[in-house]
Amino acid sequence: RNYKRQMRCRSDIDRLNGHFLAIFESLIPAEEEKAKQKQLLALLEKLIIKEWPKARLYLYGSCANSFGVSKSDVDLCLAIEEPDINKAEVILKLADILQSDNLQNVQALTRARVPIVKLKDPATGISCDICINNVLAVVNTRLLGDYARIDVRLRQLAYIVKHWAKSRGVNETYHGTLSSYAYVLMCIHFLQQRRPAILPCLQGMKATYSVTVDNIECAYFDQIEKLRDFGSHNRETIGQLVWGFFNYWAYCHDYTDSVISVRSGCIISKREKDWTRRVGNDRHLICIEDPFEVSHDLGRVVDKFSIRVLREEFERAAEIMQYDPNPCVKLFEPY
Ligand code: ATP
Ligand code: MG
Repeated sequence: RNYKRQMRCRSDIDRLNGHFLAIFESLIPAEEEKAKQKQLLALLEKLIIKEWPKARLYLYGSCANSFGVSKSDVDLCLAIEEPDINKAEVILKLADILQSDNLQNVQALTRARVPIVKLKDPATGISCDICINNVLAVVNTRLLGDYARIDVRLRQLAYIVKHWAKSRGVNETYHGTLSSYAYVLMCIHFLQQRRPAILPCLQGMKATYSVTVDNIECAYFDQIEKLRDFGSHNRETIGQLVWGFFNYWAYCHDYTDSVISVRSGCIISKREKDWTRRVGNDRHLICIEDPFEVSHDLGRVVDKFSIRVLREEFERAAEIMQYDPNPCVKLFEPY
């Protein structure tokens, strides 16, 4: 009987597929927007090179890893290879240079956890944040982008999940919920543990790319063209995967003992990481290991209140996917 009910449910879920694909398509930025981002990057590069001839400007975050929805802010990293640079000083100088070139709302945030210059380009309307020497973020952006090229379902799932998280107010790290980066890692983990697997574990394979950043060795298999049919044994559609994702985080994940690890391609235990108790502000109530900075738990921002909010939202989403006649609307209803 259960079996029958599940079958019926599956075909129902398949019918949602077209709706989810349409939502995905509607979130993809237009080519025109991508071109404008490039144009802004070129302008900034020109201004920066005058002051720091050896510096390089990298695009990172969602504009560079193919998980960016339309109208996203642009994340940039200025890499300056000088010993002992004072980031706050560089931020102030950078703000000064950009200010005098007709850019709008240039703000230097020197006291933030990650000091940045914020600005808006009047010509394109694009907002951007520039940080200094955060090269690890450039490398993890590259890893996420490479995963996205293996199977299109990752990008589809991540867009839907990010859209859901933003609509439901659970994509706000300063309120104790998770970053977009954390949600994308949750999607990658989910597709790695699916049977048959939809994504491989790139860091568990022979490394074809390797860099050392801040004393951390970042290495993984990056010949993605050789992995193009990796997920082809699994025929699940995006409708089924959205259902499965929320079901996984609502009912299947062990929040007490488990750490999700994209680096290992599976779950590892909190004991193994010594993440079993609260240390300072790190409570480890939901554990998401950073793929390179492995001592870093992306769930550290989650506290005892926001963990309830998060888990209730996962359960709400799972219920909607299971029972609601119109899940594609209900899932994204503003909170
Ligand atoms: P959005 O479209 O919501 O702006 P995003 O992909 O730009 O999403 P963010 O969470 O804003 O994601 O993060 C931008 C980038 O900063 C990520 O791609 C990642 O490289 C880096 N990053 C963000 N949070 C962390 C973190 N806690 N630890 C390490 N790197 C991080
Ligand atoms: Mg961003």
